[in-house]
Amino acid sequence: MKAVVKTASGYDNMIYTEIPEPEAVGDLVKIKIAYSGVCGTDLHAFKGTYSSTKPPVVLGHEFSGIVVAVGPDVKNVKVGDRVTSETTFKTCGICPSCLSKDYNLCGNRQGIGTQINGSMAEYLVSREESVHILPDNVSLLSASLTEPLACGVHAVIEKGDVKKGDVVCIFGAGAIGQMVAQVAKSLKATVIVAGLSTDAERFAIAKANGADIVVNQEKEDLSEIVKELTNGVGVDISFECSGSVAAANKALEITRRKGKVVQMGVFADAKVPIRADYILHKEIVYVGSRSQKPSSWVTSIHLLKEGLVVPEKIVTLITDLKDWRDAFNASLNGEGVKAVICCNPGMD
Ligand SMILES: [Zn+2]
Ligand SMILES: [Zn+2]
Repeated sequence: MKAVVKTASGYDNMIYTEIPEPEAVGDLVKIKIAYSGVCGTDLHAFKGTYSSTKPPVVLGHEFSGIVVAVGPDVKNVKVGDRVTSETTFKTCGICPSCLSKDYNLCGNRQGIGTQINGSMAEYLVSREESVHILPDNVSLLSASLTEPLACGVHAVIEKGDVKKGDVVCIFGAGAIGQMVAQVAKSLKATVIVAGLSTDAERFAIAKANGADIVVNQEKEDLSEIVKELTNGVGVDISFECSGSVAAANKALEITRRKGKVVQMGVFADAKVPIRADYILHKEIVYVGSRSQKPSSWVTSIHLLKEGLVVPEKIVTLITDLKDWRDAFNASLNGEGVKAVICCNPGMD
């Protein structure tokens, strides 16, 4: 089968090539891939700056497809099922995080598209426990973005505990910021999306998908806008989805006393100067949100089924598998919001 393989560590070292098809042994499900999203992690893997990627490996961990074979130990998933899958391929199964199904925090986890062959290929195998059968009304294109959606669910619902009527501010209008915005809107929160002049197209997409206010911080004063909107109180919950230290500190500034700031973006440096005075004096809860876990997927499938979120609305480019470099280049150049690779044409 055809696949996009990261052959060695370092910059690029990626080829579109022929590799053997994986086999559905044991509890594995073999999936014919419809779409595979290009994620920030894949870009880091391309640049050779993501230490979790263990070449040689097929990249890609956001996908949807149709089951074409199941291993002898598979119980509930059948050939012909339309599916998506969590990225967890193997966990240690014995650490405290595994026992509470917080697989995102297991230190010995093996993930699809990093240590195990991923979805930028015609087929992949995933363990049955990670596979989710799709409701009929959910498109394979939207379903391919269940993973970033689940990251949004984990942040907004499981970490942020956003409630109806809350005012939230999201820093960053990329794919994760957009998913956070859609999930927050599904809960009937008031949503502000803050970014920069380069986000013009992304702002328009956020607005079209229900964001209440978009703020170009290079032209408008976010602090003033928040003050006016909240009678000087501040927003209830902020989400830092850009990896910018300045954004994290702005979030701490505009969040109300006893509010929450959820950190999703990855900072370039491990040690960064953070306004700890705001955390202390306003009793702000500053909490991390790392990827997603099984419960986030169950909620995501529900939101998809009810039409409360429509991830395909953030797709701005679809390329064929052989043209994967076009999808990567657009993503590396910050064009649009989400580039998706079509791995087997004509499936949706
Ligand atoms: Zn991802
Ligand atoms: Zn574990």
